[in-house]
Amino acid sequence: MPDPSQDLFRVTLLGTGAPPPVLDRFGPSTLVEVGTEKFIFDAGRGAMQRLHQLQIPFADITGVFLTHHHSDHVVGFTDLWLTGWIGRPWGNRRNLLRVWGPEGTQQMMEHLPKAFHVDIRVRSKSYPPEGVKLEAEEIKQGVVYAKAGVTVSTFEVDHSGEELPAFGYRIDYRGQSAVLSGDTTFNENLIRHAQGADLLVHEVTAASGTAAETAAQLKRISSNHTTPEQAGEVFARVKPKLAVYNHLLLFGDARVEDLIPATRRNYSGPLLVGEDLMRIEIGDSVETQRFSDRE
Ligand SMILES: [Zn+2]
Repeated sequence: MPDPSQDLFRVTLLGTGAPPPVLDRFGPSTLVEVGTEKFIFDAGRGAMQRLHQLQIPFADITGVFLTHHHSDHVVGFTDLWLTGWIGRPWGNRRNLLRVWGPEGTQQMMEHLPKAFHVDIRVRSKSYPPEGVKLEAEEIKQGVVYAKAGVTVSTFEVDHSGEELPAFGYRIDYRGQSAVLSGDTTFNENLIRHAQGADLLVHEVTAASGTAAETAAQLKRISSNHTTPEQAGEVFARVKPKLAVYNHLLLFGDARVEDLIPATRRNYSGPLLVGEDLMRIEIGDSVETQRFSDRE
């Protein structure tokens, strides 16, 4: 009998928020289940809770990829790593955890075990020490993972220029592909690497308020994030089967419901504003399901 997991290519948005500590949108994090592999891209606040809502034990995760080192993308990592090691059904990790990310990843993965050395020493008496080990790999543009027909590659994006190394990711499997923008302003390199993607998951920023406030906010954020109008241009040039916003950075009076109309100035194709736990299945077509519709 064919293994049903061989056909699996599913992206689940674990968190679609940003730094504001709100309950409905946790920090940016995305689960990609592809073939027999399960990857987490970014580890924002609440990633462990969202994974638990999906009833996926952390033991099943193949590895974690980081797009960049802004704290809202990594503050949930410690929880995934340490809670995921505890010998309960939602954790139970017994093997070392591989982590890929830009410059700074090695240092973070070396220092975290030092910061938590007391907990690790004590719990190592109960749980396999191998399960708390971290193995970091710093990435450059190109293929970073290739196994069992799954290829994960990275491309450079522009998130405050060279001061903050930042990457997007592309996952290819059986002729289909998903692209994650990471954090970036409008970027030609992203458009190049996203060509042919079935799914494009993209960040977005918007500001609204008094004219002077909005202008000042937009000036500040548009050097490292993408406005809906700019994202519309990206989507129009990539032409994915579906574009989804996942990391909503809203300032002042900017509202979620304004994102799609603003994007429509430049793009008329399939588009959704993501929600936490929204599931996107990539097959001959790209199908989405909200968490509330499948409970
Ligand atoms: Zn960022």
